[in-house]
Amino acid sequence: PEIPVHQFLADSARQYPDVNAILFFDRGITFKELDDLTSRFATFLQDRGVRKGDRVAIMAPNCPQNVICFFGTLKTGAVVVQHNPMYVERELEHQLNDSGSETLVCLADLYPKVQNVRAETSLKNVITFNMDGTPVSTGDDTEDLKDILEKYDAAYDRIGVGPEDLALLQYTGGTTGVSKGCMLTHRNLVANVLQTVEVVGKNYRRGNDCVIGVLPLFHVYGLTCIMNMSVYMGVTMILFPRFEPKAVIEAIHNYKVGVYFASPTMLIAINNYKEIGNYDLRCLHTCVSGSAPLPNEVKEAFRKLTGVEVVEAYGLSEASPVTHSNPVNGKVKTGSIGLPIPDTGMKVVDINTGEECTFHQAGEMWVKGPQVMRGYWNRPDETVNVFADGWLKTGDVVEVDDEGYVCIVSRKKDVIIAGGYNIYPVEVEDVLFAHPKVKESVVVGVPDAYRGETVKAFIVLKEGETATEEEIISYCRTKLAAYKVPRRVEFRAELPKSAVGKILRRLLRE
Ligand code: ATP
Repeated sequence: PEIPVHQFLADSARQYPDVNAILFFDRGITFKELDDLTSRFATFLQDRGVRKGDRVAIMAPNCPQNVICFFGTLKTGAVVVQHNPMYVERELEHQLNDSGSETLVCLADLYPKVQNVRAETSLKNVITFNMDGTPVSTGDDTEDLKDILEKYDAAYDRIGVGPEDLALLQYTGGTTGVSKGCMLTHRNLVANVLQTVEVVGKNYRRGNDCVIGVLPLFHVYGLTCIMNMSVYMGVTMILFPRFEPKAVIEAIHNYKVGVYFASPTMLIAINNYKEIGNYDLRCLHTCVSGSAPLPNEVKEAFRKLTGVEVVEAYGLSEASPVTHSNPVNGKVKTGSIGLPIPDTGMKVVDINTGEECTFHQAGEMWVKGPQVMRGYWNRPDETVNVFADGWLKTGDVVEVDDEGYVCIVSRKKDVIIAGGYNIYPVEVEDVLFAHPKVKESVVVGVPDAYRGETVKAFIVLKEGETATEEEIISYCRTKLAAYKVPRRVEFRAELPKSAVGKILRRLLRE
C-alpha cells in the first residue's frame, strides 16, 4: 500500500471513466467527473493557502459534496477531519479547536451551529452548500461550494503525498468517553481497503455493481468500507443522507444492488419493514454487519429475505477500522467476529494478571497491523495508554476458539463486577432478547451498596406488548445464575443510540 488514498480515484477514473461513482437521488456522478470535481476543489484549497498537513473539516451527512471534499482535500496533502452533523455546538467547538482546522465545509442547514462558535475557533474559510446543488444563502462570510466547483479548474499543484502522511483525523465515537482524534495515515487507510477486500470483496463485480451507502461517511466504518472500498473497486455507491428503510429497500430492488454494509439496527429495520414482501432483495451478494454484536435471529431473518449470509466484522476507529471479519464465501461462525484479516496480528491478555491467554480464556484483545493509527492527535498520554510494545489495546474482552475465531465477550468498561463476579452484559442481553415480548434490551451495572454493582436491564417491548418487571425477572431466573439476574428492569420506548446504531450504555448508566 505505497500509494496515497486518492490514487484509488485516479485509477478508477482511468479504468471506469463512465461508470457512476456516486448515485444520489437518482443523479449520477461518474468516476471521471468525480476525479475532475475533486481536482477543482484541490485547486481552490491551494488558492486559499491550504498546505500539506493543514486540517480541513467537513460536516455533512452522506452526499456527493462530502466525497468531493474528502478526495479534494487529500489531493493537496491536507488532512480531513469529519464531524458528525448531529453534534451540538459545544462538541463541534471542542473538535474544531482540538484539530485546529482553519477551513470547514458544511451543509448550509448546519451553518447556524458553526456561526455561533466561529469566533471561538481558528476558522478562516467556511464553505457551505445545499445537497441538491442549488445556490446557498448563508451570508458574505461563507463561500458557496457550487461556485467554487464551477470557477476553479482542475490544474492543482500536484505535490507529493506519501504513505506516511496523515490523511484523516478520525474522532472516536465517544461511546465510552471523551472523543479523541485518531491520526490515520494514507498507508493506514489504503491498507485497510486492501485487507478488507481480501476477505469480503470476492463477489464484487468490478466496474458494474452498486453498494448501499447509508452508514455515515463521517464515521470510519462507512468511510473505509463504503467510500474508499467502492472507489477502489470501481463500483457505484448509492448515498443516503439518513437511514430510511423504505429508501434503502427500494434502491436495492431498483438498482439490483449487490453490497450492503450495515449495523445490526439497519438490518433489523429492513427485516421488520411491513411491505417487504413487495420487493426483491435477492440481488444482494455481500452483506456485512459491524459496529455492534449481530444477534442470530436478525441474521437468520435477513437470510430468509435475501438468501445472503450476513458476515459479521469488527473494527475500531483506531484501526481504520477493520481488524476482524468472517470471510464471504468461506466458513462463517455465527456469534463470532471472525478471524483477523490479512496482515493483522492479535493477542489476548488477561485483564487481571496481564498474562497472555490461551484458547477459550477471556481477555483483552490487542492488535497490530498496517491499519493501526499512529496515535491520538495532541494526546501523548492517551497514546501511551492505548499501546503496549507496538500493540493496540482494543478495550474489548474476547475469547478465541480452537479454530482461531474470535467472540466478543464485552467491552472492558462494560464488564459488571457484582460481589466479585464478572458479568458480561451480552450474556444477559441474549437471554432477554430471546423473550418473545422483547424487541431490544441492554443491561448495565448500577451502584449497589452491598455488591458494589448490580445488573439493571433496560427493555423496549415489541409493538402492542406489555410486561411487568416481576415477569421479566422471574423469566431470567430460569435462564441465568442468580448473580447475573437483573435486580431492576426499566421499560423504555427506545434506547439511546449513536450515529452508527450503537447503544450508548454510558448514557443509560448515568
Ligand atoms: P469511543 O472509543 O470513543 O468510546 P466507540 O467505541 O464507539 O467510541 P468506535 O471506534 O466507533 O468508537 O467503535 C469501536 C468499538 O465498536 C469496538 O471497540 C467494539 O467495542 C465495538 N464493535 C465493533 N464491531 C463490533 C462487533 N461486530 N461486535 C461487537 N462490538 C463491536
